[in-house]
Amino acid sequence: MKILSVHAHFDDYEFTAAGTFAMWQRKLGGQLRARVIVCTDGKAGHQFRTRDETGKIRLQEQLAAAKIGGYEFEQLRYPSGEVPREACLQATTDLLAALWKAVRDFEPDYVFCPPLPAEPLAGVHVDHVAVAEAMRKVAYMINVPHAFTPEFPADQTKSKPCKVPVILNVYDGYMSGANSCDLVVDVEEAFPDICRMSLCHQSQIAEWLPWVGRHNMEPPRSPEDWSKMLRRRFDRYHDKTGWRLSRAHGLMAAASHENPLRPRALR
Ligand SMILES: [Zn+2]
Repeated sequence: MKILSVHAHFDDYEFTAAGTFAMWQRKLGGQLRARVIVCTDGKAGHQFRTRDETGKIRLQEQLAAAKIGGYEFEQLRYPSGEVPREACLQATTDLLAALWKAVRDFEPDYVFCPPLPAEPLAGVHVDHVAVAEAMRKVAYMINVPHAFTPEFPADQTKSKPCKVPVILNVYDGYMSGANSCDLVVDVEEAFPDICRMSLCHQSQIAEWLPWVGRHNMEPPRSPEDWSKMLRRRFDRYHDKTGWRLSRAHGLMAAASHENPLRPRALR
């Protein structure tokens, strides 16, 4: 089985799908291939590092987390080869083409991505919304050969069918007020792994996120301290979706252009 996480930034995976992936790894071992795609260059969002330095550090942090998490990591690239710029992602033809190629190349059974906000007053992050919108718009095109062959040249007289994945929208802390949830996965067993993976993102959890203010957090002083902070974060996710859960859970909603999909999603 193959599972794919597509999200906007370095660290988004650790805060959304990592627990569910880790539980699947426990269950399937070598039968599972997990891949994480980050759709931006990670250069925005630091208060004292240059853009280039920030991008380089964040890439190294993600690679360290990937080593712990045992997943394949990829940065999304436009057809030009360029990595999309953080903080101004839009659901353009180039972004759709890049996602189409990335999904077709891997042929996952499940894709995890951010949700589209249904609530017009929801607080959003432009990059998260762009990934959500592009993924939704490209969903039907996944099994349409040559939909983006002008961008990715190929022999147009040859095509093979491509498996269309179930698409799951993960809980998104940046969709304030607009998350829905109809699928919960108990990831308590993987909670220590999520702590270790997310700790790799030091330039975010110890530098940027405490500085930016909206997260109302102090830099963690130790791994134990971080574990407590992460626990509170999970509790907050649970509260916001109305689930009273004492163990850590991955929260998501099922979405796809194919219906009915919930029986498949719950398999
Ligand atoms: Zn993000």
